[in-house]
Amino acid sequence: MSHPVISFEFFPPKTAEGIAKLRETRKQLAQLKPKFFSVTFGAGGSTRDRTMDTVLEIQNEGYEAAPHISCISSSKEEISALLDEYRAKNIRHLVALRGDVPSGEVSAGDFRHANELVAFIRRETGDWFEIEVAAYPEFHPESSSASADLKHFKAKVDAGADSAITQYFYNADAYFRFMDQCGALGIKVPVVPGIMPIYNFTQLSRFSSVCGADIPRWLRLRLQDYADDMPSLRSFGMDVVTDLCEQLLEGGAPGLHFYTLNQAGIISTILQRLALPAA
Ligand SMILES: Cc1cc2nc3c(=O)[nH]c(=O)nc-3n(C[C@H](O)[C@H](O)[C@H](O)COP(=O)(O)OP(=O)(O)OC[C@H]3O[C@@H](n4cnc5c(N)ncnc54)[C@H](O)[C@@H]3O)c2cc1C
Repeated sequence: MSHPVISFEFFPPKTAEGIAKLRETRKQLAQLKPKFFSVTFGAGGSTRDRTMDTVLEIQNEGYEAAPHISCISSSKEEISALLDEYRAKNIRHLVALRGDVPSGEVSAGDFRHANELVAFIRRETGDWFEIEVAAYPEFHPESSSASADLKHFKAKVDAGADSAITQYFYNADAYFRFMDQCGALGIKVPVVPGIMPIYNFTQLSRFSSVCGADIPRWLRLRLQDYADDMPSLRSFGMDVVTDLCEQLLEGGAPGLHFYTLNQAGIISTILQRLALPAA
């Protein structure tokens, strides 16, 4: 196994305490030699400045930083100004998304889907940015069918995406079958599995019902059993997620992208257990 590409995703903290905590998290995770740290972006630009500040801090520490950009509710002028700002700061890596439509939203802005954002970024900035897009091995909750979702994923790649990161999942077969289908459609870009460590069952259930990630019955029932016993839940969750990562890497996944929720402990343990070959 060659060294897999490891990356870590953060959300931009709101408070001074959150900023300090994220610095500590980053220090710990940096020891695991990730290729980059990415920072999420609230739909409609709600975290624009905090995402920018977090990204610049990461870059100033000497690490590669990849801001997420979501286009829903944004105008071309707003996205263009953001791209100019990132270019001026020498940021060269983006995660390009549509974003979730805010409830009660009427105007969706100038972009309907992420493929339009990717095409716009390429048109405006050529090859300046390495562009990642989202992929859904268990399919996006709004998609009318699996084949339509795959076709839409291909449209993002054809528009100029260099690689993709998946929504999280706990069923390795979903990823491998998705990759087979991508291969059949001629999609050749790396698709890195997104990994959600198990921190808390209530929170995981909430996230999963929104994003369409399946928590298999056996896993859900086991996690429910640990409801009041956090140490056991985390220990069991770590075993499950380490096993998932092993299966994915052994099956040829090019890397792992961790949804950190700005925490380092569980992920550090998982990566130590995986004992990856040196970078
Ligand atoms: C790795 C990762 C990071 C994320 N980071 C963020 C973040 O920072 N901020 C945030 O707000 N959200 C984030 N999200 C969530 C993401 O914004 C949502 O999942 C959103 O609902 C879809 O975004 P997308 O870029 O996949 O959209 P799209 O690719 O546009 O797809 C959205 C839906 O529309 C369909 N579709 C796509 N193109 C077309 C078309 N041309 N015609 C008709 N239907 C189409 C698709 O099948 C799908 O059902 C992230 C998701 C992932 C996997």
